[in-house]
Amino acid sequence: MDKIKLLILPGDGIGPEAVDEVKKIIDFLNKKNCFSIIVEEDLVGGACLDKNKVPIKEETIEKAKKSDAVLLGAVGGPKWDNLPFEQRPEQGLLKLRSDLELFANLRPAISFEPLIHASSLKPEIIKDLNILIIRELTGGVYFGEPRGIEDIGNGNKKGFNTQVYTSEEIKRVARVAFELAKNRKKVVTSVEKSNVMESGKLWKEEVTKLGKKDYPEIDLNHMYADNCAMQLIRQPKQFDIILTDNLFGDILSDAAAMLTGSLGMLPSASLGAVDSTGRRAGMYEPVHGSAPDISGQDKANPIAMIMSFAMMLKYSFDMNEESDLIEKAVQNVLSKGLRTLDIKQKDEKHVSTKEMGAAIIQELDTLIGN
Ligand code: NAD
Repeated sequence: MDKIKLLILPGDGIGPEAVDEVKKIIDFLNKKNCFSIIVEEDLVGGACLDKNKVPIKEETIEKAKKSDAVLLGAVGGPKWDNLPFEQRPEQGLLKLRSDLELFANLRPAISFEPLIHASSLKPEIIKDLNILIIRELTGGVYFGEPRGIEDIGNGNKKGFNTQVYTSEEIKRVARVAFELAKNRKKVVTSVEKSNVMESGKLWKEEVTKLGKKDYPEIDLNHMYADNCAMQLIRQPKQFDIILTDNLFGDILSDAAAMLTGSLGMLPSASLGAVDSTGRRAGMYEPVHGSAPDISGQDKANPIAMIMSFAMMLKYSFDMNEESDLIEKAVQNVLSKGLRTLDIKQKDEKHVSTKEMGAAIIQELDTLIGN
């Protein structure tokens, strides 16, 4: 079995607590010979600022580049809130994403049957929901130039940003969507505003061309972003993969995520291009932040972190069986009624971070059965 080199960056707040539960799962599955993962750990965010006066060190970036994948907890917290923008803990995360060229952000929205009543939508609308949102992560209006705030006289100012995409930027993220669609329902919905934006027009043209040329077996649909927002709330199960740009993806993935309940349940992956050795850079992290309000109290839900690890097995190492095993263990534990504070109903009892992690390992043990 090939040894996998994993770099873990626990970060701040509940990051290290949630990461601890993944490390225990890795130890357990290593011992069960499910895989052979060697873990290295380093600092990012506020933890790195406190020790090294930078949110991430260059040598950590180099380690990340040499690793087979990166697992990140969360960064930030009130202690560092008053620092100038360029020194904030979040810069460590942004630098990782840009230096590793992680241009495709994957966010699944999967409904867990036992938590179906925690959603604000009717159970029949979200039962068996399984959507994957693929958001372009390194281009578009968040990075486009020119940008700024200018004085335009008479006490008036102008704030401006530029929405810009090149053909290559569109094609490389679209390719990720088409490739992943092959192992799902073979349906991609590409989302833009080609009715009012030139960048959206180019987006639609390039995705259509690529689909026709290289992926004729994939059923490609197009939808305007405003309609997609409505459809996600009205009838989310019509979607399988949603492919969209940075700005619309930011908004639509948050909306889709909330269909399924708590922030504590939501994993994510950010992928780069495949290199000459066939390896794709990948960083996996929960959607939630460092949750300073509950940090250090053994209250955090570790499931988002654990599911991020499960995504890593699937998307970086094609270990679908092992990934499904972890998902199944999480499902079973929830079916047995275990809840952390964030996902419990009013009168339900709740368990701690460590108890939830231990219950998932126990369930894995039962599922593996030897
Ligand atoms: P947050 O996600 O940290 O917390 C929002 C709310 O959700 C809090 O009430 C928190 O207790 C709860 N929550 C989040 N994750 C949870 C979990 N696993 N289990 C149980 N409850 C959970 O967002 P925020 O409060 O807006 O930000 C706090 C800090 O995190 C800020 O410094 C922010 O910049 C940073 N942040 C980091 C990331 C990241 O590292 N990717 C993402 C978002 C926010």
